[in-house]
Amino acid sequence: MAHRFDVEARFSAGAQYIGGRLRAGNAGRPQSVVDPATGEDVLSYELASPADVDEAVAAAAAAYPGWSGATPGERSDALHRLAGVLAAQAADFAYAESLQCGKPIRLTTEFDVPGTIDNTAFFAGAARHLEGKGAAEYSGDHTSYIRREPLGVIGSIAPWNYPLQMAAWKILPAIAAGNTIVLKPSELTPLTSLMFAEAASEAGIPDGVVNVISGAGADAGERLVGHPDVVMTSFTGSTGVGKRVAEIATRTVKRLHLELGGKAPFVVFDDADLEAAVHGAVAGALINTGQDCTAATRAYVQRPLYDAFVAGVADLMAGVRLGDPMDPATDLGPLISYAQRDRVAAFVERAAAAGARIVTGGRIPADLKGAYYEPTLVADAAQDSEIVQSEVFGPVLAVLPFDSDDEGLALANDTAYGLAASAWTRDLYRANRATRELKAGCVWVNDHIPIISEMPHGGYKASGYGKDMSSYSFEEYTQVKHVMQDTTGAARKDWHRTIFAL
Ligand code: NAD
Repeated sequence: MAHRFDVEARFSAGAQYIGGRLRAGNAGRPQSVVDPATGEDVLSYELASPADVDEAVAAAAAAYPGWSGATPGERSDALHRLAGVLAAQAADFAYAESLQCGKPIRLTTEFDVPGTIDNTAFFAGAARHLEGKGAAEYSGDHTSYIRREPLGVIGSIAPWNYPLQMAAWKILPAIAAGNTIVLKPSELTPLTSLMFAEAASEAGIPDGVVNVISGAGADAGERLVGHPDVVMTSFTGSTGVGKRVAEIATRTVKRLHLELGGKAPFVVFDDADLEAAVHGAVAGALINTGQDCTAATRAYVQRPLYDAFVAGVADLMAGVRLGDPMDPATDLGPLISYAQRDRVAAFVERAAAAGARIVTGGRIPADLKGAYYEPTLVADAAQDSEIVQSEVFGPVLAVLPFDSDDEGLALANDTAYGLAASAWTRDLYRANRATRELKAGCVWVNDHIPIISEMPHGGYKASGYGKDMSSYSFEEYTQVKHVMQDTTGAARKDWHRTIFAL
């Protein structure tokens, strides 16, 4: 069983972390953090008001000169210490993340928390490796070099599906590069973002460098995106809200980083290892109860393997254990809320009404109190149907057959999204073609889901632009200055003749 702590006692001062201290919000509206496995409140807190956002931005702005002026080595040392603090509190983080999201404790203990610690260690190293083109005399008469500079105060907004990892993905590259940050987690899941900010303070990162605002999207979120002293918005969430965020950010010419929805295809060619593909599909579809922007959501299976694949996936899905997220034996937890569960159920009902076949699942389990939904396999849906085209964000996999390789790849690319995809084959040339032609920011071959700190995560098409994780994320969180310095010392430069006669 999970290591528990008293959440109400820990956040008795409030759920806003501004200038290095926890305090209550001033929106005048209480918000509950609910355990989706039971429907019970684990914390009631006051939401942040727009004025709280202003205060957090002011704290971040005040911390900026000192933090941006620290050496890369000093920032690296602080991040190394942060990795140590996170490791020491790993069990608390796993518990809080499981509690607020309903994630099985095995997932938080083996994936969310160690992934976050590894990310922190990665950015501790990367802080010392900001890159630029070599200084040189490109014109012959000047030395040119690049300064890679931080931007200032970053405003970041995160969703509820991986609150700890999203906090880490937003905060780490931003502060490693010398920025300061105000992060708004989802108001449903603020706990681990607050704990991450507290851990940063414990590691000696100065007050105001990392601030967390627990507020609603429409007021606190929009204030953060529209704030004149925030220079960049980094948003992870749905494509619909991302469009609204982009509109607001554009008014103040902010730099924008958008990590949006996904509808990842899972393409199984007829030479694939069937057992590997079946296991990969179930793991890829059910991770985090399907509330994963890269989850396998559309399996395209070449006709000779189709029936065996459908039978294998249905069989494996039927054996998945739903239950108490705090029990290490539990495979699948609830969805984030009853509302999300009902949304998923409605997608499946509409798919069935439109002629799709529910091979397994498709029900709300009667014996579980929380927001649970059975692992569900949907066959015979049309390519242009809602269940194949729209983000369901639940434990639901649609499966469709294809004949030629051309057709399989075309179907895989036929949605608005482009976050991730996978190809399953033992043929090198097919794999090579699929990795080239699949339009997604990540393509796996013979696997689906793994991520690593050294490699970027980010979308194509309506899945957004910009990268999280890896050194590529520094392209978002730094700006490049060209410095061009005369080497001749001449008062009358040669090139002046172009402008006036010498
Ligand atoms: P959401 O878009 O509803 O909310 C995301 C965040 O935006 C929340 O913090 C919310 O409070 C805030 N928000 C809402 N309205 C706002 C507004 N008008 N102005 C500013 N902020 C506002 O998404 P969600 O339901 O929390 O999360 C699920 C979505 O996130 C899915 O679409 C999923 O694909 C996406 N996601 C994408 C990635 C990725 O890397 N591409 C990763 C995780 C989740």
